[in-house]
Amino acid sequence: MNDTPEIRTRFAPSPTGFLHIGGVRTTLYNWLFARHHGGRFVLRIEDTDEVRSTVDSVTAILDSIRWLGLDWDEGPLDLEREQGDFGSYYQMRRLPLYQEQVRKLLQEGKAYPCYCTREETEVVRQAAKEKGEPRPEDPCRRLTEAKRREHEAAGRKPAVRFIMPDEGETVVDDLIRGQVRFENKLQQDLVIQKTTGGPTYNFACVCDDHAMRISHVIRGDEHLSNMPAQARIYEALGWQPPLFAHLSMIMGPDGTKLSKRHGATSVLEYRDMGFLPEALRNYLALLGWATSDSRQIFTPEDLISAFDLPGCQKNPATFDPAKLSWMNGEYMRALEPAEIVRRAEPFLQRAGLIPQPAGPALESLAALEREKFKLLSDVPARTDFFYRETEATDKARKVLAAPEAKAVLEGLAGLLEPFAPFTEKPLEECIRRFCAERALKAGQVFHPLRAAVSGRTDGPTLFLMLELMGRETVIARLRKTAARLA
Ligand code: GLU
Repeated sequence: MNDTPEIRTRFAPSPTGFLHIGGVRTTLYNWLFARHHGGRFVLRIEDTDEVRSTVDSVTAILDSIRWLGLDWDEGPLDLEREQGDFGSYYQMRRLPLYQEQVRKLLQEGKAYPCYCTREETEVVRQAAKEKGEPRPEDPCRRLTEAKRREHEAAGRKPAVRFIMPDEGETVVDDLIRGQVRFENKLQQDLVIQKTTGGPTYNFACVCDDHAMRISHVIRGDEHLSNMPAQARIYEALGWQPPLFAHLSMIMGPDGTKLSKRHGATSVLEYRDMGFLPEALRNYLALLGWATSDSRQIFTPEDLISAFDLPGCQKNPATFDPAKLSWMNGEYMRALEPAEIVRRAEPFLQRAGLIPQPAGPALESLAALEREKFKLLSDVPARTDFFYRETEATDKARKVLAAPEAKAVLEGLAGLLEPFAPFTEKPLEECIRRFCAERALKAGQVFHPLRAAVSGRTDGPTLFLMLELMGRETVIARLRKTAARLA
């Protein structure tokens, strides 16, 4: 019989907001690790914060992970349906499981009811602070039976606190950081059950990681400080803890913790800006992990086969938007034009270019501009002028302000109106002849021509652009622009 435990990882978001870059990197690493080892990846919704948890946030989290193409083997499929053999993957639907363990700890004297109100707790905390004591005393730890009955008679509902040791150390082995030591005298008795009967994060998390047979907990290092409490709860319940790996923090380019100040941090914002999920995935994989040869671009299969925890770094990772854009561009260039158009559909729709107005096939434009696309949102931005007149850019207006521009445009309109065939090479020869005859430099003709028909100074190669745009549009725009010039 094979007794190697199955690799099971989980991502356990609290649905109190959107899924941000840090959270999605955690998701990715858990997914990659499970896939690399042929294990299972679990999604669990930690909705025990009754005040801040929202269903919109659950939906946004599911959408974000799905968009990135990170499939989960167990967990919620939507707000109602779930898959997996471990009961519900929404913690608020698992309350009896936590309450049973709380009862056990109470019976064994490892936890106690605490009747303190928030205000009373605050007074004790302040007093300890003033006395310079490392941790406030927990008054209910040694409550007399008479006092307890008094509280009960007064209708006070207790929370339950878990007893943390007063002395010594709690030592935790972390797969990324090695041994981490915590002084017990700094740890307060932890609330494990709130007065509402619901569990707190640290307790529910331990119960579920155990119940769901999680083998590896991979999460952000903001949770390292929860380790002493979690380690002690495993011990008190007589459970073998999983292995832990705490990922390095993500910094913004200025060296401070990544936040809204650094720009978009929600995954769905990246989707809406036009990033490709496979590019974001590749980029995020490298945010705190590297191969020994510092490879940058990975196919999805390569990423799964290369990823493992030893490549994860202790030092903070820096989120570099410029590198992400570069990488997205690399992925964009590798797409077939038809695929670019298919993926850009929501962007083309928003820009009103689908259904396609009369004009060249979008696919031929995607082929033409492919080298310059960095984002899917660049597709409508770089092709819209083929279908409709767009406002001239400042640079284009400057080009058109040249003294000879008006005459050039009028001359070209007259020349090109009857010209055939209206295709790239013949157009180029004809326009070059026009320059020579009028003793104009190429730039004096090409620049205003481009500015007049496209409203900009950059874009696809000029003569092919004229061919694709078609005679009618070219002539009409030349005349209209010329008429506007003084
Ligand atoms: N629910 C926790 C959070 O969203 C996850 C903690 C964990 O991974 O253990 O931060």
